[in-house]
Amino acid sequence: MEVFRTAESMRNWSRAQRAAGKRIGFVPTMGALHEGHLSLMRVAVQDNEVAVASIFVNPTQFAPHEDFDAYPRQFERDAAMCEAAGIVAIYAPMASGMYPENFSTYVLVEKVSEGLCGGSRPHFFRGVATVVTKLFNAVTPDRAYFGQKDAQQCAVITRMARDLDMGVEIVEMPIVREPDGLAMSSRNAYLSEEERVRALCISRALFAAQARMEAGERDAACVKAEVLQAMDEVTVDYVELVDADTMRSVETIEKPVLLAVAAVSGGTRLIDNIKYTPSESLVRVER
Ligand code: AMP
Repeated sequence: MEVFRTAESMRNWSRAQRAAGKRIGFVPTMGALHEGHLSLMRVAVQDNEVAVASIFVNPTQFAPHEDFDAYPRQFERDAAMCEAAGIVAIYAPMASGMYPENFSTYVLVEKVSEGLCGGSRPHFFRGVATVVTKLFNAVTPDRAYFGQKDAQQCAVITRMARDLDMGVEIVEMPIVREPDGLAMSSRNAYLSEEERVRALCISRALFAAQARMEAGERDAACVKAEVLQAMDEVTVDYVELVDADTMRSVETIEKPVLLAVAAVSGGTRLIDNIKYTPSESLVRVER
């Protein structure tokens, strides 16, 4: 497995792969890898001749008060996990190379980036869209793999890749959860035992809402109210029911929807979601 620290060396490698007729799968990460990341890598390895992962804690997607400095960094362990998953090259650029003095160019994806996490973290998606563009320019992948765990991020990147003719197929992969339902996240490492137990109300609330929608509930306000009530052991940032493609709020559940939540347990901000596609044969339940 090779490790590249500059866009130029990464791009040269990718060029040689493409010249040899190989398609490149790509998994961007911020490291502190877990089974969620590995699930993306395994599919990237399986579906492409070569698979690349990036490890870069991106400063432009963190606000000054957020956890950029505290974010777990464990490169050696991560690299070993990548290699075991079949990754053949890691792109781990240096922050100084990614954002040299006088860096002035950002990618702004409108509309889909505006609600949910974009509402709570105003510069977040600008940072994400910009770094993913830079990573794509260095790695030049054919396919890139993202987790539904960050569903709005998937929508933003899909929109961006289409709008800017990036020629990269964006593949969204399911959320990997701990056996007790907690969505895997590098930030789960911040949770104390007690905070982790309290965080379980998040996935419980989402699963209950899913059952409710499967039973025929079509009123978004009712679903959201129940989720909010069930998330009683954490501090809720938002509970939103939105169109799964546009990320716009819906009142009635009649197309594929995303039920997305963000909440804080202890000092740790956690996000989670479920997607639901209504089946037409169901009638609305009487309550
Ligand atoms: P991160 O390192 O948090 O930036 O995540 C890198 C990629 O892994 C993103 O596309 C995430 O959506 C994805 N990811 C993170 N956690 C999970 C999870 N529990 N299940 C599936 N994908 C995940």
